[in-house]
Amino acid sequence: RPNPRRNVLKMSQTEEARTPETTEPEHGERRLGFGALFSRHVISARYADGVWSGTELLDFDDLRMSPAAMVMHYGQAIFEGLKAFRADQRTVLIFRAADCATRFDRSATRMGMPPLPPGLFVDAVTRLISADAAEVPSSPGSAIYIRPVMFADEPSLAVRPSTEFRFLVLASPVDSFFASGRTMIDAYAQRSHIRAALGGTGDVKCAGNYAGAMAAKTEAMSRGCDEVLWLDAVEHRFLEEFGAMNCFVVQGSGASAELITPPLTGTILPGHTRATVINLAQRRGIAVREAPIALDEVLDPDGMISEVFACGTAAGVAPVRTIVTDAGRTRTFGHRPGPITAGLAADYTALVHGALAAEPDWIIR
Ligand code: PMP
Repeated sequence: RPNPRRNVLKMSQTEEARTPETTEPEHGERRLGFGALFSRHVISARYADGVWSGTELLDFDDLRMSPAAMVMHYGQAIFEGLKAFRADQRTVLIFRAADCATRFDRSATRMGMPPLPPGLFVDAVTRLISADAAEVPSSPGSAIYIRPVMFADEPSLAVRPSTEFRFLVLASPVDSFFASGRTMIDAYAQRSHIRAALGGTGDVKCAGNYAGAMAAKTEAMSRGCDEVLWLDAVEHRFLEEFGAMNCFVVQGSGASAELITPPLTGTILPGHTRATVINLAQRRGIAVREAPIALDEVLDPDGMISEVFACGTAAGVAPVRTIVTDAGRTRTFGHRPGPITAGLAADYTALVHGALAAEPDWIIR
């Protein structure tokens, strides 16, 4: 629920301000949307004097922060995103928490922030979801989205890394990621902005990557699209990734179909869904290749590329319906997911709900 008083620094989110859905075990028929409702608790830890405190489980409430908190001036902030899914009435599965912990540490190091003590991330996530397990929704397509975040909260305007940080984990019962509620997405490829260049921060999950992408997202939405399709920063010719999802194309069809995704050369976020999809495709015997993908080839209706999909924790495997470019080119791939995309989407859903065998360390039950 958007906070009606978000422009004041200290405020208290009262019980009445919480929407009733957040306290009920089942979320009924209403659409949850994405990231607007929050579960009852939050995990908090603080770093100061070179050490991390232990974690505390607190009621979800507003924070008290200095107006000089460094994150608000220099943006030293990183986050993660993972989900817990209901396997059955009594069982909740947290997907790829250990991998998120590793990526979180990598993000911290890149942003000059202290890594968490080993085990703290996974313990924090597990503790929160154990406490709020009743709030994991069960309707098809729903899950609880878990958001670990770390930010600089030392009060100082000095331009240097903060020496104090806050680590939080919050959770949000969700269903469809896109505001439209659509499950097939329309993407907008433009060349006036870039997301990431070599040596930058594109391959970690820092808040600034998303801040720099908001204007492009606004433009994409103003053209009726759901997401930006980012191109490489140098030639603006090759697909990189979507705003918050990695990118795959299917080349060819039938038994000769091959899955291609851009290689992780340092400007793309190494998505866990990307890695999961590669694993699932290999299980199906589909060849997977990491190689540059030219936008021109993707847009050629007589070319070899028959399907495009996005994938990420928030949206799962999301088939692309249309790609629109700033030069006025459009290609529509169809109004129904192609066969390879549909198969992988079904496998992914089965996997995260525990109906398909996972690799070791992928799932905390
Ligand atoms: N790219 C970007 C820019 C993202 O924000 C995300 C979401 N974390 C992804 C890709 C997909 O990553 P994952 O599959 O780990 O959610």
